[in-house]
Amino acid sequence: VPGRPSLPREDALIERIRRRLPSSAGGVLRTGIGDDAAVLRPSPVNEWVITCDQFIEGVHFLDRMHPPDAVGYKALARATSDIAAMGARPRLFFLSIALPSRRTGLWLDKMLGGMARAAGEFGLILAGGDTARPGPRADAVALTVTVLGEVKSGAAVLRQAARPGDAIYVSGVLGAGELGLQILLSRLHKGPRWKALLQPHYYPQIELELGQQLANERIASAMMDLSDGLSTDLPRLCHASGVGAVIHQTALPTVSIPVQLQALGLEEINLALHGGEDYRLLFTVPSRVASRLRRKLGDARVFRIGQIQAGRGVELELPGGRRVQLAARGWDHFRGTVQREHPRGRRSTQGASVVE
Ligand SMILES: [Mg+2]
Repeated sequence: VPGRPSLPREDALIERIRRRLPSSAGGVLRTGIGDDAAVLRPSPVNEWVITCDQFIEGVHFLDRMHPPDAVGYKALARATSDIAAMGARPRLFFLSIALPSRRTGLWLDKMLGGMARAAGEFGLILAGGDTARPGPRADAVALTVTVLGEVKSGAAVLRQAARPGDAIYVSGVLGAGELGLQILLSRLHKGPRWKALLQPHYYPQIELELGQQLANERIASAMMDLSDGLSTDLPRLCHASGVGAVIHQTALPTVSIPVQLQALGLEEINLALHGGEDYRLLFTVPSRVASRLRRKLGDARVFRIGQIQAGRGVELELPGGRRVQLAARGWDHFRGTVQREHPRGRRSTQGASVVE
């Protein structure tokens, strides 16, 4: 436009992001995008819950394999799942993007479209962020998502208050995220045949309503979300609470593997114990509350899988009644060897599920 200086390219990029993602000020957000920093208006009766999560090409998703709208959806879902796990209500998010020039076209539009859908489902408003090119020695997309949630003062459910005798629950089927990943890595993801089984990996459904109910009605004594697999995450909760646990193998809600996928060599019990990225809630309930849980939760699908006990470590009770130590075989960034073809490391989910 003659007479009006054109905006620098970064401003144009920010404008594109702002057009795609809901970002209007109002409510808790007094001033959002367009100023130097966001101004928030805290509620006197609530506390803020804040979490930060990275989603990096080649580590968390793969070039040319993960659909761009799934990248956008999942980047926000993963971060917001941690807000659900505290029992908080999501309010605002910040997005920082390192974006190579090959990703500024249609890929960016589709990625933002997926993220916008997630923001709408979760009730999130974009409050700010940053954009940059990756450094000269890097050519990967990196998304850093910070999510703010609100919870009634004192109601947030932490990991540290599980007590011996508490019942242990998960909020849905385990292993569906890992099954989708394995289908993708086996290059069976093209075409419609396994589309439904890929959905939990591409677009994980997080447990916002259940998390808030468990917190606001003071049902859960401790809670976290399952991001790295039950065998890795349950010991984290137990460690934080200074307790041990026993899990009953026959009580685990396992994903069903179709017979046509038997050649992949996967076992349902191993996916349930060690598979990552399910984003179900793992929570404990004092026994006097557990007896009334079904009535309190109505239609919510929760499964009682075991019990907190005194001591250390997590035991697995096998179908015959024998107990063995459950080894942590879920995902660990700093233990796993990340390989180029595998977004979460070359980790086998086959073989023995337990060690004695
Ligand atoms: Mg978490």
